[in-house]
Amino acid sequence: MNGLDMDIQFLPGVGPKRADLLEKELGVASVGDLLRLYPFRYIDKSSITRICDVRPDMAYIQIRARVTRVELFGPSSSAVDAPAPVSNPKEKALKFNTIRRMSAWISDGTGEMETVYFKGIKWMYEKLKVGQEFLFFGKPSAFNGRINMVHPEVDDVSKAAGIPAQSASSATAEAIGAGSTMTGVYPSTEKLKNSGITGKVMTRLAAGALEKGLPYVQESLPEYIMKECGLVPIHFALRNIHFPKDMTSLERAKYRLKFEELFYLQLSLLKQKYVRSRAEQGIQMPRVGEAFNRCYESLPFPLTGAQKRVITEIRNDMKSGHQMNRLLQGDVGSGKTMVAVLTALIAIGNGYQACIMAPTEVLAQQHFKNIQKFLEPTGVRSALLTGSSKTSERRDVHQGLEDGSIGIIVGTHALIEDNVIFRNLGLAIIDEQHRFGVEQRSKLWRKASCGAPPHVLVMTATPIPRTLAMTLYGDLDVSVIDELPPGRKPVQTIHATEGKRPALYKFMRDQIALGRQVFVVYPLINETEKLDYQSLEAGAEEIIKHFPFPPYKTAVVHGKQTNDVKKFNMDAFAAGRADILVATSVIEVGVDVPNASVMVIESAERFGLSQLHQLRGRVGRGSEKSFCVLMTGHKMSKESRHRIELMCATENGFELAEEDMKMRGPGDLEGTQQSGLPISLNIASLAKDGLILNAARACAEAVLEADPTLREDRNQMLRRELLKDKYQIKDYSKIS
Ligand code: ADP
Ligand code: MG
Repeated sequence: MNGLDMDIQFLPGVGPKRADLLEKELGVASVGDLLRLYPFRYIDKSSITRICDVRPDMAYIQIRARVTRVELFGPSSSAVDAPAPVSNPKEKALKFNTIRRMSAWISDGTGEMETVYFKGIKWMYEKLKVGQEFLFFGKPSAFNGRINMVHPEVDDVSKAAGIPAQSASSATAEAIGAGSTMTGVYPSTEKLKNSGITGKVMTRLAAGALEKGLPYVQESLPEYIMKECGLVPIHFALRNIHFPKDMTSLERAKYRLKFEELFYLQLSLLKQKYVRSRAEQGIQMPRVGEAFNRCYESLPFPLTGAQKRVITEIRNDMKSGHQMNRLLQGDVGSGKTMVAVLTALIAIGNGYQACIMAPTEVLAQQHFKNIQKFLEPTGVRSALLTGSSKTSERRDVHQGLEDGSIGIIVGTHALIEDNVIFRNLGLAIIDEQHRFGVEQRSKLWRKASCGAPPHVLVMTATPIPRTLAMTLYGDLDVSVIDELPPGRKPVQTIHATEGKRPALYKFMRDQIALGRQVFVVYPLINETEKLDYQSLEAGAEEIIKHFPFPPYKTAVVHGKQTNDVKKFNMDAFAAGRADILVATSVIEVGVDVPNASVMVIESAERFGLSQLHQLRGRVGRGSEKSFCVLMTGHKMSKESRHRIELMCATENGFELAEEDMKMRGPGDLEGTQQSGLPISLNIASLAKDGLILNAARACAEAVLEADPTLREDRNQMLRRELLKDKYQIKDYSKIS
């Protein structure tokens, strides 16, 4: 029998009961599973680093030092000011929920260093008494040119008993990890610990797994790739990931395992892309065309550099003869609509029809309205088709699409109904891609009537961290509009709690007196949740009470209204007939009211970062200074607090997305929630291993460049590996 398949119950010290528990708690059933259950960190308690020797690029180190000084910091007054120390920390009624950061300065006689805490401050504050000595275990980092340690693990010195400072003796090394001074810490659970499966036991199990399983592990990367990319063999990697010989060996082991995982993921995605681009004929669109030029010449503004670059990329795709499959990412207000219009006009100029599909009725209407002014000089006929289009209109539109008299159709899902027939659809633009299921996209695809599939441009305003985009959309080409149109004023973001409500209302009145308009948004987690509507209704009543008619006019919009009512209220606000729009998050995307200068988000702690960012993008679109007010309760989870702080600190959607990914892991990001990542990663992290991902992707590209179908002898191993279950990618990002 292959030693990797051996049931772990037969390992020394396991037995059926523990084996059961290990499978339930950690999903570990076989020796092979155990081999791939890696420590998530390592303790090297045999060595203590002197503060004077600490460098910011060091991995985990241990310091033995005395606390010399502790400082607490409250909320920052603004994004630029450094947070002010809280006055008189000795004060009895110290309110820890207002403390954002604690610094403890530590000294070991060779130097002094700052340790920083953002969480569990109360506990740390009580533990780290000035004058007492502790062991600090963590990773040094550099901040403002100084070295510090953020959230070290703090242990009592008694734990280090017998270890003389600065010694590097291997006295504590486990016999099984002979020569190693580092002990891996394995994932564990309460249940495992309670039933005696301690760290020590896990270490012993890993040793057993290595002994029984390693001889059966076959190399999983070709020799030439290991050589070119500087990777250690799999046996070395597995041995050292569990029992590192030293720091360097550990780093090389980790690098190899992460690289391998990311490499196969990218290879799999890129292979799909290669296969498709070779196999699929695309509609060749060699011309830019008259309509494009007329629109371009009459634009009221010059395109931004980013818009121009993206249009060139799209243009090259469309004339290549291959089908375009491009993702266009751009923050709210970056001018994607403009790019969509010009792209559609290229299709028109080559004699094809184009469709623009939006996730909601409101958005489709908005798109339709927005593009009219750009289409006017071109004479191209456009139309709108949504679920609420009247039967007679619908008939006209169907007719116009079939006979080709309609060049550009804007709409919702109604566009992909079976009775919609295009004369010659050459381009599909899909806004806010993640709301469309794969199935719906493929329906659109089948509308192809010209022998080749239409070009596809997917637009998303949800900024996705680059590493995630490369994974989720690894088989698409990605364009990014990373520049906002000039003259955009930054939006000032303010966090406020209930006590500030009178001040908020006064501020709203002042803004309305200046002729501006205000959004007030309530969270709606689930459209059917009764409670959410109650809070919206109560909120609307409250607003109307404080902003009575006359002179104030308030419009209310939510998902329970009929489309007519929704549209009526929305239009009233867009046209300036209402001063305040009370709404649920239906206005999250797309609504464009340049005169609106204030966005108030109620219960902001209930929104995710990207949703908050989308909502904030609704203001700051005009020439006036704009504001976003995040109303929250006093009590917030740490995560919520961190989100609100980030929102106040930056307006950059990509930065927020990166942070969001770091906080929640890539699997939970908006837009990936429903579908998850295409594969689950075991050791690599999209949040942290961007550089390795780059290297792995470059390597995968080079391999496919030289041998697109993986026919060469030296690539047979790659072919075999790709067939493994764990590299079977969920059909998520594929448009076709
Ligand atoms: P997005 O769809 O990316 O959120 P929009 O296309 O709606 O952004 O553009 C936001 C606003 O900026 C619109 O009012 C649009 O007319 C305007 N706009 C687009 N491109 C430019 C540009 N190059 N210069 C000035 N304004 C622009
Ligand atoms: Mg838009």
